[in-house]
Amino acid sequence: MSKKIEFINLKKKYGEINALNNINYFINEREFFVIFGPSGAGKTTTLKIIAGLELPSSGGINIDNKPTASMSPKDRNVRMVFENYALYPHLTVFENIASPLRANRFSKKDISGKVNSIASTLGIREYLGRLPRELSGGQKQRVSLGRALVIKSDIYLLDEPLAHLDAKIRNELRAEFQNIKSFLSKSTVIYVTHDYLEALALGERICVMDKGEVIQIGNPEEIYYYPVNTFVAQTVGQPEISLLNLDISYKNGFYFLTNHNIDIKLSKRFNNLLKRYNKNKIIFGCRPQFWDFSKQEVKENDGYLKTEVQAFEIRNFKGVILTRVNSEQIIILCKSFEEIKEKEALWVKPDEERIYLFDVDTGDNLLLKNI
Ligand code: ATP
Repeated sequence: MSKKIEFINLKKKYGEINALNNINYFINEREFFVIFGPSGAGKTTTLKIIAGLELPSSGGINIDNKPTASMSPKDRNVRMVFENYALYPHLTVFENIASPLRANRFSKKDISGKVNSIASTLGIREYLGRLPRELSGGQKQRVSLGRALVIKSDIYLLDEPLAHLDAKIRNELRAEFQNIKSFLSKSTVIYVTHDYLEALALGERICVMDKGEVIQIGNPEEIYYYPVNTFVAQTVGQPEISLLNLDISYKNGFYFLTNHNIDIKLSKRFNNLLKRYNKNKIIFGCRPQFWDFSKQEVKENDGYLKTEVQAFEIRNFKGVILTRVNSEQIIILCKSFEEIKEKEALWVKPDEERIYLFDVDTGDNLLLKNI
């Protein structure tokens, strides 16, 4: 069981659209691998090509070092689970889950054992006698997953299995996916999502895609804390990272990032990097949880910027302050019971240990790149 999957110069075109543009990476056997990206990134196309439902335009895929070009979908031992996996309305939960086993002529004893085992993993054993119409949305989704996963396979391809559930059920099922992961631990699993929380919670490694390109592959920590560029920094994390377009200047041995009312003095540890960067504009980034702030005026010149509060919201029991300086927005996360009023002045300061510097032309993370 379980297979290694390798993409070699894989391209897929639909007319003029490059759905996949020269993809090269591999997925380890038994890995729980997440493909994450916005709509149109090429996530589903990747799965369809692995399953053999679509053919590459050029390049290809190896499964366990064997080219798949001449392998029929059946020989690949791949099971693909789509987002909308309809249940048979007239069959009980047990029979719905058992249907692929019956189609494959498993014995009665085997069927009972396998259905009960997956139903326990998914927490739906007590509903085995019910009809789909007697289930909640989340329970129905568990039954769909059960039916898809009941037959063991080397490779499972899961295409947004939680996408159309409401937020509460999504959260529950995301937590329960840890159980499902151990149930599938002997198989290679590729899980597609456009939800970064799902990607970070589930993936051993995550491939971030956009417009048919692989942007970054890494474990959750790498993807969140070491984004390769502004695209990854912005799409992974909510509320979004603040990105400021700033001018670079150099005075008395220090670099300053400035723009009208913004004046950020960097410590000397950035000197070498900025000297090599050798451009006069840069994109500065800092995530919302890494800003310090004060409602009182900070007189000393110690790195605070004066901003104006535009809005204060409560999201997920946290306070989110939207502030503005010049035409730039800075988003700051704080405690939910902070008293923050619109139009008030707020002095804010990024934690220098947590800032990012991105190339103004390419958006690349300069702290990762040895420029
Ligand atoms: P979503 O999250 O919206 O499902 P995705 O990342 O799965 O997006 P794909 O379905 O792989 O994206 O599509 C990648 C690109 O290829 C898109 O621009 C899409 O419009 C295009 N595409 C996909 N299938 C076809 C098709 N059968 N014919 C023409 N274009 C297609």
